[in-house]
Amino acid sequence: TGTLAHQRIDELLLEAHERYSDVDEGLLAHYIPILGQVEPETFAISMSHVGGTVHGAGDCHHQFSIQSISKMFVYALVLQEHGHEAVHEKIGVNNTGMPFNSVMAVELNNGHPMNPMVNAGAIATTEMIAGKSAAKKWENVREGLSAFAGRPLTLDDEVYESESEANERNKALGRLLKSYGRLDGDPNNAVDTYTKQCSLNVTAHDLAVMGATLADGGINPVTGQQVVSADVCRDTLAAVATNGLYERSGDWLFEIGIPAKSGVSGGIVAVAPGKGAIGAFSPRLDMAGNSVRGQLAIGHLSRALGLNLFASA
Ligand code: GLU
Repeated sequence: TGTLAHQRIDELLLEAHERYSDVDEGLLAHYIPILGQVEPETFAISMSHVGGTVHGAGDCHHQFSIQSISKMFVYALVLQEHGHEAVHEKIGVNNTGMPFNSVMAVELNNGHPMNPMVNAGAIATTEMIAGKSAAKKWENVREGLSAFAGRPLTLDDEVYESESEANERNKALGRLLKSYGRLDGDPNNAVDTYTKQCSLNVTAHDLAVMGATLADGGINPVTGQQVVSADVCRDTLAAVATNGLYERSGDWLFEIGIPAKSGVSGGIVAVAPGKGAIGAFSPRLDMAGNSVRGQLAIGHLSRALGLNLFASA
């Protein structure tokens, strides 16, 4: 892409940023105490081409905890490790139709976690990360996600502590999975590693690079490293498309038409296979837990750039 195309993307990002920076609908996540205390106005949009050029508007280097967006990248690492069949069987890919932290969804499905983007499925996925000890698994998660970002990601200790004190429900999910024989190791270790992965700090810029890695068959656009295989990217994006935006995943795919994953701290990453990815951050959330401005900005860019996967022209 030439200079003109790059200029156009810079303009589009600024336009999207200006257009939605007055939107103040939505609420901060409150069930993780520290997330209820962040500055609500922070707003960032970043976009990375598969070729490696990263554009941005707003606070693209503002750090926030990755939260649920970590689920898709840990899932990719686990697919790389165990392969399509084993992961499909163990974790599943179908929508639960219920909130992301539902105990009922697990109960109704005979203990099956259903898909990797709800908490039960994510805890079971994290348990499958390579490593004999909890410490080794955590190291592999952190290094794997850092390879996607192209820089070493670090833990936000405050978020980790706050979340560890407020995660009784996730611990319950871990034990429930264990009771059904769906987890091999110690459920408390699996939940702890999951809580740590959610507490890794990223920026909108990082999300764009991480997403663009999945858009380009696993090749990080900045470092050139092959992080996972192209098959893993395909499988990961399919699971993200069906389950990435909580109970609004269907609405999102219908309106915007590209796989996207959000997290309760206000981040969203959307991936246009073969083209690139958009990372957005704005902490006010809709009722399902998706960033309000983030969805608007990505929707705007997807329409302007013709990214909808289902459009023939
Ligand atoms: N760590 C959060 C939890 O498990 C992540 C939730 C999210 O971003 O959806 O509750």
